Amino acid sequence: MTTPDFSIEFFPPKTAEGTEKLRVTRAKLAELNPKYFSVTFGAGGTTQQGTLDTVTEIRREGHDAAPHLSCVGGTRESIRTILNEFKANDIRRLVALRGDLPSGYGMGGEFRYANELVEFIRAETGDWFHIEVAAYPEMHPQARSPQDDLNSFVRKMNAGANAAITQYFYNADAYFRFTEEARKAGVTAPIVAGIMPITNSTQLQRFSEMCGAEIPRWIRLKLASYGDDTASIKAFGLDVVTAMCERLLAGGAPGLHFYSLNQAAATTAIWQRLV
Ligand SMILES: Cc1cc2nc3c(=O)[nH]c(=O)nc-3n(C[C@H](O)[C@H](O)[C@H](O)COP(=O)(O)OP(=O)(O)OC[C@H]3O[C@@H](n4cnc5c(N)ncnc54)[C@H](O)[C@@H]3O)c2cc1C
Repeated sequence: MTTPDFSIEFFPPKTAEGTEKLRVTRAKLAELNPKYFSVTFGAGGTTQQGTLDTVTEIRREGHDAAPHLSCVGGTRESIRTILNEFKANDIRRLVALRGDLPSGYGMGGEFRYANELVEFIRAETGDWFHIEVAAYPEMHPQARSPQDDLNSFVRKMNAGANAAITQYFYNADAYFRFTEEARKAGVTAPIVAGIMPITNSTQLQRFSEMCGAEIPRWIRLKLASYGDDTASIKAFGLDVVTAMCERLLAGGAPGLHFYSLNQAAATTAIWQRLV
C-alpha cells in the first residue's frame, strides 16, 4: 500500500485570540507532518483576507497550505483578483468550491457551479494550481438524485481538477460505492476521504443537518446516551472514527483530510492510532 496523504483543514479565525489559539493548534498538528493544511473561505468572500493571511502565515512557518476559494456571489473580475493574489504569494494549490450564501441571498454572481470555477481557474492560470474539489458520497443536499450528483462531480473533475476531498460521513460503504461509481465514470484522480472527528454531539448534529451528512442511528443513540459526559463522547468518537479510517485506508482510500475545527486533540489522537 502506498503511504496515504493526510491533510488538515482550518477555518480562518475572526479574533486576535482565535488567531493565537490557532497558532498553538497548528504547532501541535504540524508535528504530525501533514502533506498540507487547508483554510476555508467564507462564501461571498467574507473571509477573503483572513483566509489569505492564515495561509501565508502557515507557509511562512514552512508548511504547504491551500486556500479554499468559493465562487458563489463572485464575478470573473473578483475571482481573477483573488487568483492573482494567490499567485503573487506563490500559492500553488487550492480547493475550488461553489460555496453557499446565507439563506435569503439567492445565488447571484457570475458562477453557478464549481465546474465553472474550475474551468475559469484553468483558463486564467493554466497549470499553476493543483486544484481539489468537493465530493459527496452521501449526495449533496441540493442534488436531484445520486446519479445527477455523480454526473456533476465527473463534470467538475473533467473541467481540470487534480483531486477531490469528500464531505465527511460515518458510513464507509457510501465512500466505497461513490469512488467505485466515479471510477466507472472515468475519474482516475484521487478521492480523499474527509474525516470529522466526533467531540461534541450537539455541534455534530447541527453541522450534519446542514451539510447532508448522515449520523447512523446507532452512533446518534450512543452519543445521546452519554448526555453531558464529554469524556465518554470523545472516547466513543475516537474509537468509531479511528475504526472507520482504518477501514477506509485498508479499502484503498488514497488519503484522509481532517476537518479539525481548529482543534488539535481529536485529529492527533486518531492519527496516532493509525500510524
Ligand atoms: C472538502 C470541502 C471543503 C469545503 N470548503 C468550503 C469553504 O471553504 N467555503 C464554503 O463556503 N463552503 C465549503 N464547502 C461546502 C460547499 O461549498 C457546499 O457543499 C456547497 O453547497 C457546494 O459546493 P460544491 O463546490 O460542491 O458545488 P458544486 O459542485 O457546484 O455542486 C453544488 C450542487 O449543484 C449540483 N450541480 C453541480 N454542477 C451542476 C451543473 N453544471 N448543473 C446542474 N447541477 C449541478 C451538484 O449536484 C450539487 O447538488 C466545502 C465542502 C467540502 C466537501
